This record gives sequence, structure tokens and C-alpha cells, in this order.
Amino acid sequence: MTEALAPAVTSALDRYEAVIGLEVHAQLLTKSKMFCGCSAAYTDAAPNDNTCPVCLGLPGVLPVINRQAIEYTVLTALALNCDIPEFTKFDRKNYFYPDLPKGYQISQYDMPLSRYGSLEFVLDGDTVRCGITRVHLEEDTGTMHHAGDVLQSATQSLVDFNRSGVPLMEIVGEPDLRSPEQAREYLIRLRQILVYIGVNDGNLEQGSFRCDANISLRARDAADLGTKVEVKNMNSFRAVHHALTYEIERQAAALDAGEVIRQETRGWVETRARTVSQRSKEYAHDYRYFPEPDLPPLRLDKQYVDRIRSAMHELPAARAQRFMRELGLSDYDAGVLTAERSDADAFEQLVSSGIPAKTAANWMTQDVAALANEHKVSLSQSAFGVEGLTRLLILLGDGTINGPTAKELLTELYVSGGDAAALVRERGLAQVSDESELAALVEKAVADNPGAAADFRGGKEQALGRLVGAVMKATGGKAKPDVVNRLLRERLARP
Ligand SMILES: [Zn+2]
Repeated sequence: MTEALAPAVTSALDRYEAVIGLEVHAQLLTKSKMFCGCSAAYTDAAPNDNTCPVCLGLPGVLPVINRQAIEYTVLTALALNCDIPEFTKFDRKNYFYPDLPKGYQISQYDMPLSRYGSLEFVLDGDTVRCGITRVHLEEDTGTMHHAGDVLQSATQSLVDFNRSGVPLMEIVGEPDLRSPEQAREYLIRLRQILVYIGVNDGNLEQGSFRCDANISLRARDAADLGTKVEVKNMNSFRAVHHALTYEIERQAAALDAGEVIRQETRGWVETRARTVSQRSKEYAHDYRYFPEPDLPPLRLDKQYVDRIRSAMHELPAARAQRFMRELGLSDYDAGVLTAERSDADAFEQLVSSGIPAKTAANWMTQDVAALANEHKVSLSQSAFGVEGLTRLLILLGDGTINGPTAKELLTELYVSGGDAAALVRERGLAQVSDESELAALVEKAVADNPGAAADFRGGKEQALGRLVGAVMKATGGKAKPDVVNRLLRERLARP
């Protein structure tokens, strides 16, 4: 899991402490936009199809708050252990950009929907606690499409307002993280929580979950924080790790040379594996925030918040603990099974169908995980599905088929789907468990392999494997390995 730091960074971190804080923007999975009835599914439509006078920012229109967006944000804030103040309001953040038709973004300034939360995770055996400054709600902007290469040949820019007004949560973390590894793990955990509670689809590549990082260095013995640099344009966990590693090296080299770090925004350029300066950092007063006059302040009473809290889905860390406590899973298995909610749901469905927890965990974390990775589709979304695996593991459990046959059927049916029991009948895959039939094959295997028989009788335990293999081969792989094993031992105990 942990990617080793480059040597230059390790030595930089001997002399300097990295102070990292992350800001995440996550689009909410609401049907409609934040302040109008347009569909929020902005990628499904032709450019500018999902727009109306409100999200196009035409004069004289009135925004209306999306109730579901408020609920999702409260849910997120609760999952991150935040306080929910009774009053919250929206503010205008004024700036000009072609993808922002109103000339301001409706956001939250001094009375955000939540504050003072935390996210805890374990990394390399250490518990890391990162404070959450606030979770607030705002609206997304439109998107720009530059015709041609942005830096060289583009002569036209096109604007698509489908994304304009999509509900966007901002999750501001405290500068409590101290390494690129911690930053990456924090993001993995945060994304996992948002997907678990069903408020965000966690897609970094498409930008529905995006991250900016603030990073500064200070001498190991310094009390004051260094000048922070904001890094943008990282669209994978790997990019976050690489960009922060690069910044630690760059800032350490500058500080070593006696240079002053400039407060600025830098963009990560994946193709060049470096950050480049974009602009000097703006400050809050540059935005001339003021209360949004078209929206009423909101009062979120205790019953409302309690109702959302009580309906909250079990979070991944708690679920992993429960799997260990109640189902006897290892720390590792519980972690792998709860990484994606759909896998954890599938596992619980298998267990509730009577499959032993350890068996279900082994299949989910090994063969199913490999197939899911190979075909880029989770079990629950595969044609075979959780139902298919349940029936397959029942055939395995009652001895109708053996392990190798079950693996072959799973591999064959994972993408195409189908009924394992029907294939077992059709192809005669049921195990040979008739002992008299097997005893004859055991007799033949011993006669055909006198060397292996002699070796086993002489104390070489592993020689038995060759004889088991011979019997399995004779049955076309359908014998019950444990029965073959027992019959061979009994036979070899006799002369
Ligand atoms: Zn609209």
C-alpha cells in the first residue's frame, strides 16, 4: 500500500517538517442542481442542454435551495464528527471567470453548515487524526473547452454551463498532515466515507471528487509555520502523492539556498511530473464576500439533525471492526472487504445466505477481487452477481463440486453470467465421492507410481502429493481431494 518516498524527500524531511492541509470539493449526488430544477447529471447531456435562467445567471431570477443537498451535507458533516450550528447562511463570493455567468459563486463564508470535525485513520500502525475545519455547501461552475492545445494553438474557448450550479460540498481539512503518504491515505478514507453514505460517486478522474493541497515546510525546531503554497490539478491519489513529494523537494531546496517561499498557487502538470506557478494566492478579502440577499438563512433544528444522524449508514471503519468482532475476520480481510461498500454488502449477503464468513471472505478477497480487477466490474455489478456466487458456494459447501471446479466456474461465469448448477449437471462436473470408485483409482495410482509410494512409506510426506495428483487427473479433477488423501494414506499404511 505504502509507496516508498524518494531519497531526496526522506532527507528533506529529516531537516524540515511538512505541514499539509487538504481541501476537497465533492459534487453531491442530487437529481437536480443546487438552486434550480435542472438535472445535475451534467455529463449525460449535450453541451448547455441542462440549463435555465437561474444556472445561466440571468438577471432577475431567484434561486431556491435544494433540500436534498442540505441533507447530504449535514450527513457528511456528521460522518466527519462535525458540529452542526443551528444557523447557517449563504454568501456571495465575487470573482470573474467565463465559466461563472453570475460573476459570483453562491458559497458559505462565516456561518458554514458545519465545523470542528475530524477524520481518524491508521497508517503503518500509527493512528493519524486530521481535524476538519468545516464542511460547507456551494455551487459548481461551468466548464471551459479550449479548441486546440491550451498553451499553443487554441484560439477559441467554448463554455458549457451544464455543470453550472451543481451542488458542491467543500471539505476543508486542518493542516494536520505531515507526509504525502498521510495526505493520500486521508483522501482515500474521505472518499470511502462519502461513497459509503451515498452522497458522492468518488470519481477523481471526472472531477466529481477533487482535491487542492496546501503545503509548507518549517525547520524541525521551528514553532512558526512556513509560507504555504497551494497545489491544484491533481486528479488521482497517485498525483496527490507525487505533487506533494515534488513540492517538498522544491521547497526544501529553495529554503536550503536561503530563498523565500512565495505564497502562490501552483498546478501539477502530470506529463512533466512537476508543479508550475499559476498565480499569486488570493485572499478572502479579494472576494468581497457578503450575505446572499436572495436566500434566507437556514435554521437546522436538533430534531432535523438527529433524524439524519439516526438514518446514517454504518461507516467503513466501524463496519470493519464489526466484521472482526462478530465474524472473526482478520484485520486485513476486514479492511479489504470494507474498502468498497458494494463489496462489504456482497460479503454480508453471502454470510446471511449461510456461507461461512471465512469462506465468503476468502472468495471475495482472492478470486472475486482478481476478477473484479481484471474485468473492471465489481461482483454486484457483474452478470454473475452476488446471487450467482451464493449458489456456487452452496454447491462447494455441500460437496457437489470441489474447489478447483468452483474456481473454474466462477472465472467462466463472472462476466457472462449463468447458472453454475446447470453447468455442473450438463458437463458432469459433480465430484466423484463414491469411495469404491475412488478406491480402485487409488489402487491404480499406487501401482503406477511405485517410486512415490516407496518415498512416502520411507517418510517423505510430500511424495503423497504426486499420488493425489494422479488420482485427481484420473477423475478429470472431480475427486474430493480430502477423501483421496485419506484413501491413499489408508492404502499406503498397508503393504
Ligand atoms: Zn438551471
